[in-house]
This record gives sequence, C-alpha cells and structure tokens, in this order.
Amino acid sequence: MTTESKRGRMVDHDLRDRGVRDERVLAAMARVPREEFVPQHSRDSAYDDNPLPIGDGQTISQPYIVAFMAEAARITPGDTVLEIGTGSGYGAAVLASLAAHVHTIERHATLAARAAETLERVGFDTVQVHVGDGTVGLADEAPFDAIVVTASGPEIPSPLLEQLADGGRIVMPVERRRGHQQLMRATRSGDDFAEESLLGVVFVPLIGEHGYQHGR
Ligand code: SAM
Repeated sequence: MTTESKRGRMVDHDLRDRGVRDERVLAAMARVPREEFVPQHSRDSAYDDNPLPIGDGQTISQPYIVAFMAEAARITPGDTVLEIGTGSGYGAAVLASLAAHVHTIERHATLAARAAETLERVGFDTVQVHVGDGTVGLADEAPFDAIVVTASGPEIPSPLLEQLADGGRIVMPVERRRGHQQLMRATRSGDDFAEESLLGVVFVPLIGEHGYQHGR
C-alpha cells in the first residue's frame, strides 16, 4: 500500500467512520504527511491507529485524537492558535492547515528543535515553535482564538484562560479523578467560561508551573 492510500484509509476508516465530520479537518488530516513527523524506524506504522514514541519519553498522538481535538477547537481560517505540547510538530501542522497562524510551545528543547526542522522541511511556515513552560501560555502573542493542550493537567491553567480571545475555545485533557482524564472544552464569553466534557482520553502529563510539578 502506498503512503497516500494509507493516509486515505486512515481518513475514511479511522476518522470519518468514527464521527469526525468537519470537512476542513478531514482535508487537513488528508494533507499532512504524518510519516515525516515520526522517527525513521516508525515510518511504516505512521498511519496506524495509535500514538507512537518520538523520544524523550513522549508520543505523537493517535490521529483520531488529533482530528477530534482540532474539530472540537472550531478553528476558522483567520484564527491565531496556541498549541501546548509541540512533540513531533504533527498536531501543529494540522492546526496550521486550519488557521492563519500557530504558536506551539514544547518544554523539551530537543523535541522542539526537531519539530521546527520538520515543519520547515515539510513547508509549514505559519508555525512558530517556542521552548518553555506552556502552562504560562504566551502573553506576548495573546489573545488566541483557540488553544489546544496536548498533555493532561489537574485543571485548565488560569493563564491560558486569560489569554483566550472573547469567543475563544480551549481544548485540553484534565485529570478530574486520579487516573481518569477527560477531554474538556472551555469557551469564553466575556469573563465567563462554559465548560463541556467531551471524551475520556489518555495523555502524557502536563509538567509546569500550572500543571504537575514533576515528570520527564
Ligand atoms: N502534539 C504532539 C504531536 O503532534 O506530536 C503530541 C504531544 S505529546 C502527546 C505531549 C507533549 O507535551 C510532549 O512533547 C511533552 O513534552 C509536552 N509538554 C508537557 N508539559 C508541557 C509544558 N508545560 N509545556 C510545553 N510542553 C509540555
């Protein structure tokens, strides 16, 4: 099977058939070459329906979860988006296919450097990769129309809520009970935030000032 047909099968079988409806998200998933974002020895598995190790104890998320989160963030073409947890850069590439500009923050400098190199090589020039603690956000670039957090924390960090534009959406896994993570969406309306619980998930921990204190 060619890479293109594997990607097409992933979009139809793992995304559309499971309920991803947003055609812009499906088109983004059909366009971004996931094989470029995984380690060389995992390229044959790039379109498998699961996360894959990318080094530093971290993973590239399962394609369905990437698509689900992008859809949940309700991104429109003029949006400025903040992603916390760059990892491989794949999620940022998907978000960049939907938005005008993406800022993405990674706490592991080696992963951030590799992701930036991949994004440039594959041609995603509207993504800026930052190294640091994403739980404090990126005040200098705020407000954001959407924030996507790809690691699980004890609650949604307050600086991220403050950096949302009016009408903005944040999508993030939250460990509401020990060992039970729920993907949450909070939508800002003035000073109010409407929270919805969307899906049970499993993510690596969000390590930082407004996340967990210890981890890899
Ligand atoms: N979006 C990524 C991709 O497409 O490959 C998947 C990311 S992985 C599931 C989660 C990432 O969040 C890891 O790379 C981890 O190092 C990072 N991370 C955890 N806590 C963080 C923090 N406070 N700030 C920035 N990155 C963080």
